[in-house]
Amino acid sequence: MAHAPTPHASSRETIAEFERYVVPNYRRYPVSLVRGENSWIWDAEGTRYLDFFPGWGCNLIGHCPPRVVEAVREQVGELIHVPNTWYMEAQGRFARALSERSFGGQCFFCNSGAEANEAAIKVARAHGAPKGKFKIVTMEGGFHGRTYAALTATAQPKYHEDLGPMLPGFAYVKYDDVDAVAAAIDDQTAAVMLEPVQGEGGVKIPSADYLPRLRELCDRTGTLLILDEVQTGMGRTGEWFAYQHSGVVPDVLTCAKALAGGIAAGVMMAKPEVAASLRPGMHASTFGGNPIACRAGLATVETIEADGLLPRGAEIGERFRARFHALRDEMPGKIREIRVLGTMIGLDLTFDASAVVAGCLSRQLLINATHGHVVRLLPALTIADEQIDAGCDILAEVLRETNP
Ligand code: PMP
Repeated sequence: MAHAPTPHASSRETIAEFERYVVPNYRRYPVSLVRGENSWIWDAEGTRYLDFFPGWGCNLIGHCPPRVVEAVREQVGELIHVPNTWYMEAQGRFARALSERSFGGQCFFCNSGAEANEAAIKVARAHGAPKGKFKIVTMEGGFHGRTYAALTATAQPKYHEDLGPMLPGFAYVKYDDVDAVAAAIDDQTAAVMLEPVQGEGGVKIPSADYLPRLRELCDRTGTLLILDEVQTGMGRTGEWFAYQHSGVVPDVLTCAKALAGGIAAGVMMAKPEVAASLRPGMHASTFGGNPIACRAGLATVETIEADGLLPRGAEIGERFRARFHALRDEMPGKIREIRVLGTMIGLDLTFDASAVVAGCLSRQLLINATHGHVVRLLPALTIADEQIDAGCDILAEVLRETNP
């Protein structure tokens, strides 16, 4: 793709603006990024980085995917925004595309993962209200977002610190433990909510029978099963949604991040009989389902299908797995576990991973660390084998040099 050179402020100049004008609630790497193409990204000084964590999981089909760029360009020239008091073609088509690729649910569109989870919690409470059900069971180590209901659902004390009180009506249990969920459910429980793979919690992949057994428990107790697929959804794990590895379906599913090829978008999908509980006036989102996001979402679906990216996701995962197994054989004292599901990849180290992230950054490889000691990679489905190998070579060098 040809790019006309754009004059950019230097990283130093941009950092100075932030220091004066931007709320300092993020820890940021000292680099201003200006341009991306697939798994490459450039900073203001022209340095090129290989991106194993594009857009914190949002750029699942790479930076600036051509079909998404084209669809958005076309849409902004036609109509930028329409409120949800009107019908719009792209929202209907995108809802259908998602429904047909999952469990026949109906879509409520919003702009982020937290917002999608707020909608899921609301629909669960609205659905349970006639039976006096309002409680939500969530999992320790889970992550659902920063708004208050999503934050309350996030059973990690570090995220609640100084922000209490949380919302009433939530119970927390151990992940991958069906008996703990069974013990927490009572006649006021409206829903069980969890990630099919815990992302922020360290790429935790539960036992194969976890979701089927939870489904059976929810059916038996009249409890809704809500899956947060904000991070795992839209092809990340080699299926459209991670629950599709399990053979059972949820009642409610949320997705965001990669939903619209990097454009801000979120969705809460619910079985029609559950969706009906959200009556007109009970919930809304001004920008939700706007034509730009929905066109971008449709272009994302088209890209994933036309380019065969779901099977490619599984292949990418196996390539990383093979590389990491070789590394573990070489450095058994440094690598505790390798967890891979498609392009959701965790390398559990025996020590804090922040020095590894810094070492990779200084060699122009972008990765992430979560849960302190887990290197997390969310590479694009469009990454080339040579890029995987080159990045793994860098990661290997950094791991060899890092002494815990
Ligand atoms: N749920 C999960 C599983 C997530 O990983 C995240 C973001 N890391 C969220 C919800 C929150 O999404 P957002 O930041 O878009 O609100």
